[in-house]
Amino acid sequence: MPTTYENYIDGEWRDSTSGETFQVRNPADTDEVVARFQKSRRVDVLEAIDVACDAQEDWAETPAPERGAILKRAGIALDRRRDEATETLVREEGKTQSEASGEVGRAIDIFHYYAEKARDLGGIEKSPSNRNAELTTRREPLGTVGIITPWNYPIAIPAWKLAPALVTGNTVVHKPASEAPGVSRILFECLEEAGLPDGVGNMVTGSGSEVGAPLSDHGSIDALSFTGSTAVGTEVARTSATDLKRVQCEMGGKNPTIVMPSADISEATEIVGVGAFGTTGQSCTACSRAIVHEDVYEEFLDSIIKYTTNLTVAGGLEDPDMGPHVSESELTSTLEYVEIGRKEGATLETGGSELTGESYADGHFVEPTVFSGVTTDMRLAQEEIFGPVLSVMCVDSFEEAISVANNVDYGLSASITTQDLSEAHEFVDTIEAGVAKVNEKTTGLELHVPFGGYKNSSTNTYREQGDAGLDFFTSTKTVYMNY
Ligand code: NAD
Repeated sequence: MPTTYENYIDGEWRDSTSGETFQVRNPADTDEVVARFQKSRRVDVLEAIDVACDAQEDWAETPAPERGAILKRAGIALDRRRDEATETLVREEGKTQSEASGEVGRAIDIFHYYAEKARDLGGIEKSPSNRNAELTTRREPLGTVGIITPWNYPIAIPAWKLAPALVTGNTVVHKPASEAPGVSRILFECLEEAGLPDGVGNMVTGSGSEVGAPLSDHGSIDALSFTGSTAVGTEVARTSATDLKRVQCEMGGKNPTIVMPSADISEATEIVGVGAFGTTGQSCTACSRAIVHEDVYEEFLDSIIKYTTNLTVAGGLEDPDMGPHVSESELTSTLEYVEIGRKEGATLETGGSELTGESYADGHFVEPTVFSGVTTDMRLAQEEIFGPVLSVMCVDSFEEAISVANNVDYGLSASITTQDLSEAHEFVDTIEAGVAKVNEKTTGLELHVPFGGYKNSSTNTYREQGDAGLDFFTSTKTVYMNY
């Protein structure tokens, strides 16, 4: 019998007022119900917002190092539960064991990082124009903030929003994605164990329309940090703007890796392959387009096809190279894009089909897929697929490579493989992306550097992670002190 988990509101685990629950199934074996969660209603979120607002003043007055100490204890608690959190993540989201364990480790590191930041939240001192005066700034919390997260990094993303929000003195209402809420639940259990005061951190599960929407339309929410699709994020940003709340939306991508003639092709293959097929292509920073110079096009294409056909696909607990899609709808969407690619005239080099047969029968498995001959006018080259589908595109110059790379509505992450220093610098100068990498895969970013995108990949407001996380969750007060 699967466990039914509750919402966390005002320091208590509570049933939703609806009395209803929803189930999360294992994407590698849909016969397995991993757990059940509360199908909450708007009224549950309103209650969470109320208690978070009530708790805010006390929390803001708690010395920052004390807030940091709670985060540190929560990080230690999560470390103790590392294996359990990893297995939960594999079972509910479908990641491989290695990917899931890396992500849980990341969440632990984030808690420890912001725990240390608590001693150093900062503020600056400027030279005053008057004698006997001080001119300084300080950071103040925004108040009560909403945090809405997607299923694809269901523990790292909540952690990298929750930790800076809490450490800077905000109270939080968090809505996790319904596909994978179990690891957010573990985060809140760790915060509870660490002594987070009642009402400071709250988690409510349920649909986007019932539970997510109030966080953007409610006047008592002072800021909203959202990660998810561009379609939903655009709506969330629009709604949030009506009462001028601070908003940050991190959204989709269509990330390229450029392969130039000077590149080491086996290294370029690994960079593109890991970027495209890691996490089953379900990363916002996944490499979706390999833009390859004609001089090495055939060599690269052969190499990436070999790489792709050698990948093992299985349930995440077996720790293969690639796990299943998170859900049937994501699998269907990927298969639809394969059809679109075929109809558009791209060449399907390998993959493209749902995996069937005994070990795949009850899961959302798809073959890693490579298309060649993709051109910029194709939907394959323009739209976020969010599955293991790589489009290989041929260009005849560095200038064309940059132009093709930039010719999309997104601008999250981009990389180039080259041994030419001028190309490397010019790439960094001209690429329209929030993250630019030379001889690196498009996926992955360390936790202490800013993360966010250009164009439709992000609202053009704040970055996340590192000091940028503290910037988003604080207001600056400028202080004149004459004496
Ligand atoms: P999604 O937009 O469907 O959902 C994201 C979250 O928003 C979920 O919790 C969902 O329940 C909630 N939601 C849905 N409708 C809502 C509404 N009307 N109001 C408020 N909340 C609502 O995205 P997803 O399918 O969970 O995640 C995949 C997407 O996330 C991809 O597009 C991916 O690129 C993007 N993503 C971006 C980043 C980044 O940092 N840029 C990181 C990870 C994922």
